[in-house]
Amino acid sequence: MNIPRASGWALLILPVALRADGLRTVADFQALAVPYKSEIRAPSFETTPDQIRADATAAMAAGDAAIDRIARQDPASATFESTFGALDSFGSDAGLAQGRIGFVQQTSTSKPVRDAAEEATKKLQKWSIGIAYREDVYAVLRAFAATKPALAGEDRRLFDYILRDYRREGFELPTATRKEVEATFKDLGELETNFEVNVTNTRALLVFTRAELAGVPDSFLTSPGVKTGDDAYTILVNVTPQRMIVEQNCSVPATRTRVSVAELHLAQDVNVPLMNKIVALRSNLAGKLGYASWDDYRTEVKMAKTGAAATRFIEDLVRGIQPKFDAELAEMQALKAADTGDPGSRIDFTDWRYYQNQVVKQKYTIDSEALRIYFPFEHVLQGMFAIYQSIFGLKFEQLQAPYVWADGVSLWGVTDAQTGEPMGLFYLDMFPREGKYNHFAEFGIQPGRRLPDGSYLRPTVALLCNFPPPANGAPSLLNHQEVTTLFHEFGHCMHAILTRAQRGQFSGTSVPRDFVEAPSQMLENWTYDKRVLDTFAADYRDPEKKVPAQTLSRLNEVHLATMGVFYRRQLAFALLDLRLHGPRAAGAPVDCQAETNRVLDQVFFHVPDDTAFIAYFGHLAGGYDAGYYGYAWADSIASDMATVFKAAPGGFLDTGAGMRMRQEIYSQGDAREVSVSIEAFLGRPRSNAPFLQKLGIQ
Ligand SMILES: [Zn+2]
Repeated sequence: MNIPRASGWALLILPVALRADGLRTVADFQALAVPYKSEIRAPSFETTPDQIRADATAAMAAGDAAIDRIARQDPASATFESTFGALDSFGSDAGLAQGRIGFVQQTSTSKPVRDAAEEATKKLQKWSIGIAYREDVYAVLRAFAATKPALAGEDRRLFDYILRDYRREGFELPTATRKEVEATFKDLGELETNFEVNVTNTRALLVFTRAELAGVPDSFLTSPGVKTGDDAYTILVNVTPQRMIVEQNCSVPATRTRVSVAELHLAQDVNVPLMNKIVALRSNLAGKLGYASWDDYRTEVKMAKTGAAATRFIEDLVRGIQPKFDAELAEMQALKAADTGDPGSRIDFTDWRYYQNQVVKQKYTIDSEALRIYFPFEHVLQGMFAIYQSIFGLKFEQLQAPYVWADGVSLWGVTDAQTGEPMGLFYLDMFPREGKYNHFAEFGIQPGRRLPDGSYLRPTVALLCNFPPPANGAPSLLNHQEVTTLFHEFGHCMHAILTRAQRGQFSGTSVPRDFVEAPSQMLENWTYDKRVLDTFAADYRDPEKKVPAQTLSRLNEVHLATMGVFYRRQLAFALLDLRLHGPRAAGAPVDCQAETNRVLDQVFFHVPDDTAFIAYFGHLAGGYDAGYYGYAWADSIASDMATVFKAAPGGFLDTGAGMRMRQEIYSQGDAREVSVSIEAFLGRPRSNAPFLQKLGIQ
């Protein structure tokens, strides 16, 4: 990669000699950190299966030793650092090996290495669960807590968090109850795994004739595996893109109905009884741990704090977006009425995708593929870098990487533009290859924190993406969605790197899960702004040609056109999740099918009573139980935070707003209550109004 470096900055910082290829070494960059009492560490990635096994074993041995030191210390001379502080350091150190080996699993070009990393990751997970249940450690912490230490700030917070988390595992309960709780957690884990396995393994295929699939693109019908006979086309209902392409495009109502109904029966026979059991166990567990409901238990560690607060938030939004939902439905209904000749026809669960697609097609002729010419990857990356450097007061420079796991991976250093202080490192691994992680995500490899010797270990992160690689002489060209994804994902890098939290527990993106997406969701606004795009987006064959204002407003309109239905569906999922996990009478039977169908009926569309959407909704076993509301929660905060930039003189390029974002949000992490950070950034209490305004509701 030939990446232009910001000019003059080597002089600005320190007169460090540049190497022949113009890039500073990591050693040079490390030297810059010394005056700031901070430490830059380039991780040493494992490259062979043996190394992985050896490093995992060493990490567990070092971890065991650290835990033993905590457990076996003389209680009389115990200090905060030798107890709670030491446990936080242990967590960070153990997390380091886990994070790095987990990362190797996603990136190595060698299958044996990936396999070894997968195996080591499982081993490390099992080991860390064992540590979490060590009673001797808890006894020491408790004895120290009984001395009622005078603590303030982050230390007080760490103290409270650690005790809270032990309590949440049942450590304050009488031994017999505690053992029951531990066993129930284990049972629950198994049932959840079974549920997920059933979701993964369930299959349903439907065979149609060409006529029955009228409207479905030929490119799909001729793709491998779909055409299975002379006039037979097989649709795998369990494969989301296959199901969706039919639901969105097929003009034959009976076909759409067959597909939609089949979807709602996926995994029903196995997963409905399982989910009934899971919900009952969760409720029971919450009761034993002293909570009124599972959603109270789950939200205690999030911004929402209680199930009732999360429910209230969702119910408010359901009401709030009613006008937008109604307006979108009316448009779809008009099309359906014209189609069927029945003015009274209503949109239902079998045809909303189809009519939504028709509305978008008829109202907004926009060829999103044609926009790629404006977004050559290198320009987008440099453009985003320039913006984030400017608004957050930073400098990025490519470094000579001591090691990269694949061709094309690059290593970058981040420094504070004002002071020259090194803030951290990031790797970029942007294009797909065999065996690599196949989504887009930021990976924390080394979180920032204060080390026991008083120096500050600065973070290292990596961005794994799968942008279209350069092909046929043309550069990599992104579509608008991919540009937005880059702005979003790199935002997570900023959150991790700019941390000033002292403790690993509170560092960077270790914030409540109903908040963690908000800063990056806020940054998605940038790519819909003409002023922002004009700083870097231009036809790669003729840089004079910028994205036309009309195209951009079209893009904004299309984006908005389906948001009413999109969010009502999201809110329905959030609400059925919360209802399922709300307070229930002990021992009362759970009927998750009826309970969730009722919510879909109220908030989204009526579904037949004998169907079970819930059986195939993997989120409720995959860690999002009583947490699905978090998507909308974070989205609403993102809209709220974006108002600070919108009101600033420089808009989304405003350095004052950017620096405030850096100070009040990114640098804080979870070192103070996130709600406090948000209000400090906003300069006022939070509000849902900007979110509703974004959706076109005044
Ligand atoms: Zn994200």
